[in-house]
Amino acid sequence: MTFTDFFDTIGIRFEAGTKTRGFIPVPGTPVEMPCTIICGTRPGRQILITGGVHGGEYPCIETAIQLGLHLQPAEISGTVVVVHPVNPPAFFAKLQYYGPHDGKNLNRVFPGKALGTASERIAYVVSQLQQCSDFFIDLHGGDIHEALLPFVIYSRLGGDEVAAQSREVSSFLGFPYVVGSVSDNGSIGGAANSGVPGLLAELGMCGRWSAEEVEEYIEAVRNTLRGLGVIEGTFVRHEDVKYLDSMQVLTAQHTGCWYPSKELGEEVASGEKLGEIRDFFGEVLSTYYAERGGILLYVVTSLAIVTGDPLCAVGVS
Ligand SMILES: [Zn+2]
Repeated sequence: MTFTDFFDTIGIRFEAGTKTRGFIPVPGTPVEMPCTIICGTRPGRQILITGGVHGGEYPCIETAIQLGLHLQPAEISGTVVVVHPVNPPAFFAKLQYYGPHDGKNLNRVFPGKALGTASERIAYVVSQLQQCSDFFIDLHGGDIHEALLPFVIYSRLGGDEVAAQSREVSSFLGFPYVVGSVSDNGSIGGAANSGVPGLLAELGMCGRWSAEEVEEYIEAVRNTLRGLGVIEGTFVRHEDVKYLDSMQVLTAQHTGCWYPSKELGEEVASGEKLGEIRDFFGEVLSTYYAERGGILLYVVTSLAIVTGDPLCAVGVS
């Protein structure tokens, strides 16, 4: 399927040299995803950019809005589809991680289900869009209670060729760290499993956003589009990006209060303590350790923590 075929089915038609705005409905839900289709004047790659899979990640959502506004057909070879944001109900509910209709994390239900819950249906529609594209760029950031360093995740799934392309292009953003993932239920894992290379970018944090962060994010995406040959201009190859082997994500085993022991960006040694959860009487319920040495890529900042919540992640070199 091509973008033209996909948008045809929802009554949106576009042609070369135009910018088209509209909404992508998610059947059986109240969700309508605002999108901008920038169809270049020259043939080229089909690129899907999504912002706001998680509704509380503001720098990436504003970046996607700005890309939709400012990318011009005359500068593009191929077609760029920007979805900004993917999940408007989660955005307006000001929720971290979860969708308001089913309490599910959209980035854990790919490739979705046509007749599933609201989040599964959204994932299904995004998966269809992914299958129309040659490369998928999913913009994220630290969520409402998450502090993080800018980094990029690529999927190791989808075979050597797809994984190698995802890995290489992940460095084009120029964020300090790139880490591989074998998760198969997230947006990039879903794309990779259907043969589409992609990346998931993380910039910004803690329910805030600034014009400077958005500017940095836009320039990072524009550089990636230059590297992919989609827009013209000088492509900067960032040689100083550090590739990490994997990520140890720690999740809460208890509901209580979270006390991290390490600062964001701190180096941690194998076996080192990362934090503990205590009850309201100060009794330690569980303690968390690094399995291998690495760098603290993100850490949850809320004192409140619920069983199953992420706590922090170590990027392992
Ligand atoms: Zn996210």
